[in-house]
Amino acid sequence: MKLNDLQTTSWTLARRAERMNPSVLREILKVTDRPGIISFAGGLPSARTFPVAAFADACANVLREDGEAALQYAASEGFAPLREQVARMLPWDVDPAQVLITTGSQQGLDLVAKVLVDSGSKVLVETPTYLGALQAFAPMEPEFVGIGADAEGIDVAELAAQRAGARFLYVLPNFQNPTGRTMSEARRQALVQAARELSLPIVEDNPYGELWFDAPPPLPLTARNPEGSIYLGSFSKVLAPGLRLGFLVAPPAIAPKLLQAKQAADLHSPSFNQRMVVDVMRDGFLDRHVPTIRALYKAQRDAMLAALTREMQGLDVRWNAPDGGMFLWARLPEGLDAVDLLPRAVERGVAFVPGAPFFAGPADTRALRLSFVTASQEQIAFGIATLAGVIREQLGH
Ligand code: PMP
Repeated sequence: MKLNDLQTTSWTLARRAERMNPSVLREILKVTDRPGIISFAGGLPSARTFPVAAFADACANVLREDGEAALQYAASEGFAPLREQVARMLPWDVDPAQVLITTGSQQGLDLVAKVLVDSGSKVLVETPTYLGALQAFAPMEPEFVGIGADAEGIDVAELAAQRAGARFLYVLPNFQNPTGRTMSEARRQALVQAARELSLPIVEDNPYGELWFDAPPPLPLTARNPEGSIYLGSFSKVLAPGLRLGFLVAPPAIAPKLLQAKQAADLHSPSFNQRMVVDVMRDGFLDRHVPTIRALYKAQRDAMLAALTREMQGLDVRWNAPDGGMFLWARLPEGLDAVDLLPRAVERGVAFVPGAPFFAGPADTRALRLSFVTASQEQIAFGIATLAGVIREQLGH
C-alpha cells in the first residue's frame, strides 16, 4: 500500500484531539539539539546528577532478589514499600494508603484533569504556568482562567471573583516552571485561608521543592490543608526523569476515582523501576545525593546571574534570582519580542524558551525562560554574551 492510499479514508478527529497542539517547546528542542548550540531552552535536569552506578547495583539487586515480581503486572496503587517511603518523605502526616504512584507527575496532571474537568469547566492557573499542565488539561476542554501573580506568588484577592464554577486552582509554589519564583510564607497562608473560605480545591505541583539552594522553601500548601488539596510529586528531578516515576497524594474523597483513572490509563507504573527506586533509596541515599544536586545547581545559577550582570549592562533587560530549581525568568527591553528573537539567537548558536506559551491568557511577549542547569559554566558565560549581542543588534545599538 502506498502512503497516498491512506488519504481515501476520512478520519474524524475527536474534539479533544483538536485541542492537542504540537508543543512549541518540542519544536524548539529539535533546533537546540543541533550540535554547537548552547541551549538554555531545555527543561531537562543535568544528566551529571543521575546516579547511574547506584541504579546499576539496584538493577542487579532487584533482579536477583525479586526478579519475577519486578517483571510481573502489579497493583495500580504502586509498590507498597515505595508508597511507604513517599509517605515518610513528605513533611506532613500522610497515610501510605493515600499515595498513588504515577508514571511521572505528568501522568498525575492527566489523571487529575480526567477526574475533575468537564468540557467548559473553569480551571484556575497561575500567570504564567507550566506549559505541560496546560497541555495535560486541555483535552478535557476546560476554560482556563489565568490568575495574576507577583514575585511572591498568585494574587489571592482575584480568587473570590473566579471561584464560581472553578474545579480547582493549579499552583506551583516552589521554584516555579517557568518563572523560578517561590510563593512566600505569607502568601501561602493567605492562599490556604482563601481556598478554605471559598471551598476551592487546590492541585499543588511540586517537582522542584527539594532543589533549594540556601534554605528549604516554606511548607507545602497541602500540608496545611490536606483535605482540600491534591499534591503531585516526582522522582524526575531528585533521581532521574527516564524512570518515569512520580506520585500523588489525594484526600479520601477523591483518591478512589484517581486510582480508577490510573488503572484505565496504564494499569500501573513500571514494577521494575519502582523496585529499583526503593533499592536505591535504602540507607538514606537521597540525604546524600540531593545536596550534591543543590550545590551544582546553585553554582550554575550563580554563573548565570554573574553572566547576566556582566553582559546585559546598559540594556534594559530584567531577570530574577531564583532560590532553587532549574529556571530563571527574564524580560527583554521594550519593543523586543522573545518569539521573534529566538531564531536570531539560534542563528548565533544560543537558544532559550520564549515565555508566551506558558500564559493561559494574554501573554507577556517580552518574557523568556532560561534554564541554568544543563549548559556548562563556560557555555553559560559564552551563551549569555552571545544573547546580549543579539539583543543589542535588535535594538540597533
Ligand atoms: N510539573 C512541572 C512543573 C514540571 O516542570 C514537570 C517536568 N518538566 C512535570 C510536572 C512533569 O514531570 P515528570 O512527569 O517527569 O514527573
